[in-house]
Amino acid sequence: MSTEHHRTELPWRLAEMTTQEAATAVDRAPIVVIPAGAFEQHGPAMPLATDTIRAEHVAERVAQTLAGRVVIGPPLPVGVSPHHLAFAGTVTLTTITFAAVVREYVDSLYRHGWRKILVLTGHGGNNATLTTVAQDLLTTHPDLQFAWTPLTALASDVVADMAVSEVHGHSGEAETAQLLHLAPHLVHTDRLAAGTTSTTGLTPLARLSRTSGHPTLTVRYDHLTANGVLGDPRHATARDGQAIVDTAVARVAAFVTQWLDA
Ligand SMILES: [Zn+2]
Repeated sequence: MSTEHHRTELPWRLAEMTTQEAATAVDRAPIVVIPAGAFEQHGPAMPLATDTIRAEHVAERVAQTLAGRVVIGPPLPVGVSPHHLAFAGTVTLTTITFAAVVREYVDSLYRHGWRKILVLTGHGGNNATLTTVAQDLLTTHPDLQFAWTPLTALASDVVADMAVSEVHGHSGEAETAQLLHLAPHLVHTDRLAAGTTSTTGLTPLARLSRTSGHPTLTVRYDHLTANGVLGDPRHATARDGQAIVDTAVARVAAFVTQWLDA
C-alpha cells in the first residue's frame, strides 16, 4: 500500500502553494481573496473566531465557484473589536494597526504581480478601516484595484425574510444560523440564549446608539447586552444559514466573474 499523496490540481490557497506555484498563479488567478475576521466574544454558545471562520468558508466557496481563477490569500484573523473588550477572550487591533496590516498584505501581493485584491470581512467592525484603506490605495497604488465587502450585509434581503428580533445582529439569529450551517460542531446549541431583542430594555444612552436619523453614537457592547448577544439565536436554523451563505457566495462570485474581465 502506498502512503504517498500526489496533488492532482493546483491549490486555491496561497498558503498551500510552493513559491514556484505562487509565481505562476498570478497569471491564471489574477484576483486574491483575503478573508478577514475578528477575535472577539460571540456570546455563550459560539467561538471567538466565529467571524474568521465564516469569512474563510465563504472565500473557499467563492474560490471553488471560480474554479482556479482566484486564489485565497492570508487571512486576517484579528480585527477591530475594541467595543467587545469587556468580554473575556476578545483580542483587538486598533484601526491604525489593522489598516497597516491590510496595506502591508496588499504591498506584498502587489510585489508578486497581483493587481486585484478583494477583502471579505465577516466582522462589521472592520468596515470603517477598509473604507479608509481603499481610499488611501487610490493614491499610493493607482494601478491596483481594491474591493471589499461585509458578508451578512450582502444577503440582507435573505435576513429580512427570517424571523428576527427587533434588535438583532451580533451572535443573533443570522450569524448563528451561518455557523450552524458552516461549522455546527462549534456551536453549543444547549447554551444558546437570547440577548438584547428590543430597544425598550436599553438604557437611554444605548438606545441612542441603536437608532438613526441623528449623529452616530458609538458605545461599547457591554452597554448593549449582558451576554454579548443581539437578538435571539435560539431561532437560528442551519437552513437559514445556508440561504445566507449561498446568497453571499453567489453575489461575490458574480462580482468577481465580471471583475476578471473588467
Ligand atoms: Zn461575528
